[in-house]
Amino acid sequence: MIVFDKVTKIYPDGTIALEGVSLIIEPKEFVSIVGHSGAGKTTLVKMLLSEEKPSSGKVFYESLNVNHLKKHEIHHFRRKIGTVFQDFKLLPNKTVYENIAFAMEMSGRCDDEICADVPHVLNLVDLTNKSYNFPHELSGGEKQRVAIARAIVNQPDIIVADEPTGNLDPINTNEIIQILKKINDLGTTIILTTHNKGVIDSLGKRVITMEKGKVVRDDKTGKYVL
Ligand code: ADP
Repeated sequence: MIVFDKVTKIYPDGTIALEGVSLIIEPKEFVSIVGHSGAGKTTLVKMLLSEEKPSSGKVFYESLNVNHLKKHEIHHFRRKIGTVFQDFKLLPNKTVYENIAFAMEMSGRCDDEICADVPHVLNLVDLTNKSYNFPHELSGGEKQRVAIARAIVNQPDIIVADEPTGNLDPINTNEIIQILKKINDLGTTIILTTHNKGVIDSLGKRVITMEKGKVVRDDKTGKYVL
């Protein structure tokens, strides 16, 4: 379970990015966080990843107070969370296979595991035939599917996808959302931030709406109403 308890974030320049945000996200939920640019969505995600600390309030993952973790503990904690971003963040000089294998090497996984698991996740995102291509040889949707494969290969509890469809056309957007849904069905919690109304309305999952640093709606099978 993820708990945000009265989280306020004021950046050093005085910007109030989050104000008294309280939320509970249960294991295996698929939660979309929506809101205009500047509403605080990315800041909220950064709190969970322990990339920023709250100015007041607390963030828990299970019994861990995320913001009290020491440096070496943060490293370990972040392995529980796979991340996917709008700009893919693939390594340009590595093939699709190597991008995913590298994420496993960084987590200390052995060659046998890598040989077994990389093909498995590539199959899951339907990219087996692109294993030996480089990122610049892929479409945007394919790049994002690689990023998702990389995010899930170390079997995280949670996937945080921050505007993953921001650079994609509607067909690719839909594909990415279907893959996230499939991963969710396999038991991974998904936290998705998005501007995309069509995506949200067709999902039929929980939608949290943010406005000026506050949660203004929390709908169980929500619609995008901004
Ligand atoms: P969203 O993801 O919804 O677009 P953000 O969390 O990125 O919103 O931003 C929320 C607010 O915090 C905005 O006003 C933004 O300008 C501000 N902000 C974000 N990051 C920083 C930072 N590092 N320093 C100062 N202000 C920031």
